Amino acid sequence: MLATLRKFVLAESPSLEKPPADRCCGIVASEWRKRKARVERLAQKQRGDHLRITWAPQNARVSRQLLVLGHYDTVYASGTLAKMPFHITRGKVYGPGTFDMKAGLVQALFALDALQQSKAALRKRIVFLWTSDEEIGSDSSRKLIESEARRSDAVFVLEPSFGPRGLLKTSRKGVGEAEIIVHGRASHAGLAPQEGVNAVHELARQISRVQEWNDLRRGITVNADIIEGGTRTNVIAERARAVLDLRAQRIADMRRLERRLRSLRPSAAGARLEVHGGFNRAPMERKVSAALFARAKSLAAQMGLRLGECSAGGGSDGNLTAALGIPTLDGLGAVGDGAHSAREYVIVKTMPERAALLAALLASS
Ligand SMILES: [Zn+2]
Repeated sequence: MLATLRKFVLAESPSLEKPPADRCCGIVASEWRKRKARVERLAQKQRGDHLRITWAPQNARVSRQLLVLGHYDTVYASGTLAKMPFHITRGKVYGPGTFDMKAGLVQALFALDALQQSKAALRKRIVFLWTSDEEIGSDSSRKLIESEARRSDAVFVLEPSFGPRGLLKTSRKGVGEAEIIVHGRASHAGLAPQEGVNAVHELARQISRVQEWNDLRRGITVNADIIEGGTRTNVIAERARAVLDLRAQRIADMRRLERRLRSLRPSAAGARLEVHGGFNRAPMERKVSAALFARAKSLAAQMGLRLGECSAGGGSDGNLTAALGIPTLDGLGAVGDGAHSAREYVIVKTMPERAALLAALLASS
């Protein structure tokens, strides 16, 4: 497993750089071809190609399918390996994209090995979908993920688990981004202040309004994390803009936040507001994961493993499949820590356990 992980990690695959991402895609594909799985490389213009891999037991007429979902892109630019080399120290394996989520891909590969070698009697075809743009919002893969999920009875997402005990993610917040643009009127701050409409002041009022929508206990957060406006100190600001990060735990709260955003009105006479954006990934509510998690927990117990669950504040492609109402279990990938940082690592001894758990889930679905 480590030798395969090394190959995947040494093939750097930044979401924003197509040539290296494509190279990584080819290396991942060749491992699946070795297992005699059917590999389709779905060419993309801007992003790395996506991979759809199908495996069905021979001689079996299966009409239903299970989807195993993951991404091979990482947040690290080419050349990161030089300062963050692949290495194994004290039972941990380090390197860009190890935890999020190349070890997850390796675990899926070995889960397939386990199913093939044990000649497990699968009832359903398995589709593994490895995409290239999860870390940048899944624009090029979203339709593909959704259409594949619609054909599937369950979706298993190989995003990293949480914490040293490897908790699965049975709910995730929905994530959005909105932009508020204020148009005011410029005027000389000294000679004709009465003719100006200050866009920065207006934006400040709007921000203090949206700030009140925060409700940490309900899992609702609204944060203006980028603001800009104005040109010079003696010119009343004509334009100002804020970009908001939006999160909600419940679908009803997501809808309410979106309605509230649309209903913002300027408070200063002469100011005009433009509001864009909204939620990109809807919340994954626990009810779409509950039954799968219960089964995962009992399968893990049969292997002598204790499996826990948690709720995640960040979104993944699991949010997309959950939004369609397809049973989805997320966080089935690597156990480790430090995603998106130089400390990223995977705990080596958990890799075979998690591969076995995935194999058991696939065989029993
Ligand atoms: Zn990820």
